[in-house]
Amino acid sequence: MRLKAACMLLLIVFIAALCGIFARPSGLLSSFWPANAILAGLAFRNRDMAGATAWLSAFIGFILADLVTGSTWFQAIVLTLGNVVGAWVAYVLLSSLSAQHGQLLSGRSVLHLILVSVAASLCAGAIGALAMQHIFGKPFLDGFYFWFMGELLHYAIILPVMLTATPPRRWPQEWRDYRDRTSLRRRARHATPFLALILSSGAGILIGGPGAVMFSVPALLWCAMTYNLFGSTLVTLMFSCWTIIAISLHYLDLSVPWPLAIADLQSIRIGVLFLTLTPLTVAIITATRKQLLRQVQHLASHDQLSGLLNRRAFDDEAAKRLASLMRQKRLVAVLMLDIDHFKRINDTWGHSAGDQVLVTFAQVASGCLDQKGIIGRIGGEEFSVLMPVNSATEALRIAEEIRQRFAQAPVDGGQATTICATVSIGVVVARGAEHLKHLLIRADQALYQAKNCGRNCVQLVNLIDTDEPDGFCGIGQDLGMPLPLAPNEPRVVEAHVRSSC
Ligand code: GH3
Ligand code: MG
Ligand code: MG
Repeated sequence: MRLKAACMLLLIVFIAALCGIFARPSGLLSSFWPANAILAGLAFRNRDMAGATAWLSAFIGFILADLVTGSTWFQAIVLTLGNVVGAWVAYVLLSSLSAQHGQLLSGRSVLHLILVSVAASLCAGAIGALAMQHIFGKPFLDGFYFWFMGELLHYAIILPVMLTATPPRRWPQEWRDYRDRTSLRRRARHATPFLALILSSGAGILIGGPGAVMFSVPALLWCAMTYNLFGSTLVTLMFSCWTIIAISLHYLDLSVPWPLAIADLQSIRIGVLFLTLTPLTVAIITATRKQLLRQVQHLASHDQLSGLLNRRAFDDEAAKRLASLMRQKRLVAVLMLDIDHFKRINDTWGHSAGDQVLVTFAQVASGCLDQKGIIGRIGGEEFSVLMPVNSATEALRIAEEIRQRFAQAPVDGGQATTICATVSIGVVVARGAEHLKHLLIRADQALYQAKNCGRNCVQLVNLIDTDEPDGFCGIGQDLGMPLPLAPNEPRVVEAHVRSSC
C-alpha cells in the first residue's frame, strides 16, 4: 500500500513539476509552481504519502522532471532540495495544527494557513536563493524575494484546496447525490456565481487597465457565499491561476510595461495573494455559519434522547408530506404508538433504564420504517408516524413489524435483569385528502382501542373505500406474514424480568 502510494506520489510530483517547468519564462524560475503545495497537502491528508519512502519518491520525482527538461545534476539536486524542504516544513507545521484549523473550519484558520505558508516559503526561499545565486548568478536577496513570494502565493492558493477536498473516490457518489437532490432550476441558480466570475474576468480582459484584476472581486465573494468550502477554494484557485497566466501572457493588460519586470511580477503576486485571501476567509466563515445553523436547526427540531423529530418538527414535516401525498392522490397511514405500562418500567427499573427503552424503541421503529416515512417523539413515551402506503394491509404489516420487533428487543435492566417492553399502536389509513390533525385524532382513538384490547397490539381505522380489514386487534391474525408469537401466547405482555417469565 505504502509502495503504491509512494509510486503515485512520484508520478504526481513529476507531472506537477513538469507543469511548473513548462510554465517557466526563459531564464527565470517558474511563475507557476504547484508541485510543492500539492506534495505538502498530499502528505498531510494521506498517511501513506507521509513516510520516508514517500518523501524519497517525491525527491526522485522532482529530480527526474528537472533532468528530462535539460537541467544538470547539480541544478536538479539543489532546486529539488529547496522544493522538498519547503514542502516538508509545510507538512510538519500543518500536522501540528488542531483538527479544526487543519480543515479550515474557523475564520482564524486563514491566519494559521498563512503562517504555515510563510514558514515553508522562508525555508524554500533560503535554499532556492542559494541555488539561484549559483545557477543564474542572481544576488541572494533578489533570489530570496523572488522564490519566497512565488512559494507563498502557491501555498496560499493550493493548500486550501488540498485541505478541504473530499477523497476523489467519493466524488462520483457526491455528484450523483447532488444531482438527485437538486432540481435543474436550482443547479442553474448554483452555476450563476461561477458564470458571473467568468463574465467579470472576460470584462477585465476587454476593458483592461490597472484595476482590471479587481473586476472579479464581487463574483468571487458571491462564489464564496454560495459554494461549499471545497468548491470555493477550487474556484479561488482557478481564478488565481487564470489571473497569473492571463497577466503573464499579456491577455490581461494592466498597463504595465511589457514584458513584465521582476518587480512588477512580484507586485502582481502580492496583489493576487491578498485578493484570494478575501474570498477564502468569506468561504470559511460562510461554511462555519452554515454548519452552526445546521446544528441549531437539528437541535431545535430533534428530540435529544431518541434522536427522532420532536413534536413541532414532526407536525411541520408531516403537514408538508401530507400535502404532497394529497397532490399525488396517494394513500397515507398515520400511526400513534405508545409504550405499554411505561410508568411501571420507570418505577421498577429506574428512569435511566426507562430512557434506554425509549432509545431502543426509536431505533426499532426507525429501522422498520426504513426511510419510508417520518417518525417523531410527540410526548414522553408516545410517538407518531406518517408514511405513504399502497394499502391498509401494508400499513398494518409495518405496524405489526414494529410491535413484534420491539417486543423482541430486550433492554438491559441492570443486575442481570432484562426489560421486555411492548407497544400499542393505533393506525389510520386514508387518502391524502384529510387534515393532519384529524388523522392524528383518529389514530389516537385507534390507539385507545388498542390499549383497551389489552395492549401490545395494533388497531386499524380504515378511512378508505376498500374491502381490506378495518379493525385488527391482537396477535396472530393472518396478514400473510410469519408471526413469531405462538397462537396461544397471552395478548397482554407486560413489562417483566425475562428471567422470571
Ligand atoms: P399505558 O400503558 O396506559 O400507556 O401506561 P403508561 O404507564 O405507559 O402511561 P402513563 O402516561 O401513565 O406514563 C407515562 C410515563 O412516562 C410517565 C412519565 O414519568 C414517563 N416519562 C415521560 N417522559 C419520560 C422520559 O423522557 N424518560 C423516562 N424514563 N420516562 C418518561
Ligand atoms: Mg404508555
Ligand atoms: Mg402515554
